[in-house]
Amino acid sequence: MTTDQLRDTYTGRISSFQNTTRHHTRLMNYLALLRLIMLVVLVWLIVLGVKHHQSLFYLGSGLAAAGFLFLVSRYNRQKDLRTLNTRLRELNELEISCLDHQFHSRPDGMEYADSSHPWSHDLDLFGKGSLYQFLNRTSTLKGSELLAGMLTTEPGDMETIGKLRASFEKMLYVHCTRCEYCMPCPHGVNIPFNFIMLNEAKWFGEVTPPMRNWYNSFSQIEEEALKTLNGASHLCVECGECLKKCPQKIPIPEKMKEVSEIFSIQK
Ligand code: SF4
Ligand code: SF4
Repeated sequence: MTTDQLRDTYTGRISSFQNTTRHHTRLMNYLALLRLIMLVVLVWLIVLGVKHHQSLFYLGSGLAAAGFLFLVSRYNRQKDLRTLNTRLRELNELEISCLDHQFHSRPDGMEYADSSHPWSHDLDLFGKGSLYQFLNRTSTLKGSELLAGMLTTEPGDMETIGKLRASFEKMLYVHCTRCEYCMPCPHGVNIPFNFIMLNEAKWFGEVTPPMRNWYNSFSQIEEEALKTLNGASHLCVECGECLKKCPQKIPIPEKMKEVSEIFSIQK
């Protein structure tokens, strides 16, 4: 993909996330108004109930309380979705800044600089404007340590490089790069993370308990998955939306079936 194509992709996503955020904000305003009205009705019914000692008012106030709680939960759901969309928009804005070489606000990995390392200082691997700062998209300590380790480990001779390459090929049953161009899935499936599961299961030749726990931590019902965008593979309905977006041409729906089979067969 060229830089311009990448920029168009990120810009399109930003606009889509902005529209979705506006939609959630409108719904939140609407729900907040309804919630206020419901609260007023609730208080009014309670007052009437106390004044007239009629059970009808108490029944009505019970219904109003249930309605009020329902509206609170719908409001909170919209709020979570709006936060998620805002974060996704920010991530795409970050990618555009990195394309423009504006990456100097990112963590620079200075903590990994080692003056005794044979070449990391000469190559400006860490620190302001370094390769680490340009490449870094990690969000966990383990991820940033892994990236630093990859940058500072000598590749060895050609034979070692060949072996490493072969083992990476073996590990990657599905050649997913986690670019997330296929996301969001309209049914909430977390496509790249399900592929991590599949690759690990193939690599180990079995579903280990930590894998099982991780898979179980995915959202298992669509309503929740649409909120978290972290849905399990079985939520895939084979709509094919993701197929046209994947630069690796992975047959995603077919592979999602495979993930589901592996994780249900080996329970
Ligand atoms: S084919 Fe499956 S994974 Fe792909 S977008 Fe449709 S539901 Fe999501
Ligand atoms: S677009 Fe393809 S390579 Fe990228 S995360 Fe999705 S499945 Fe993986």
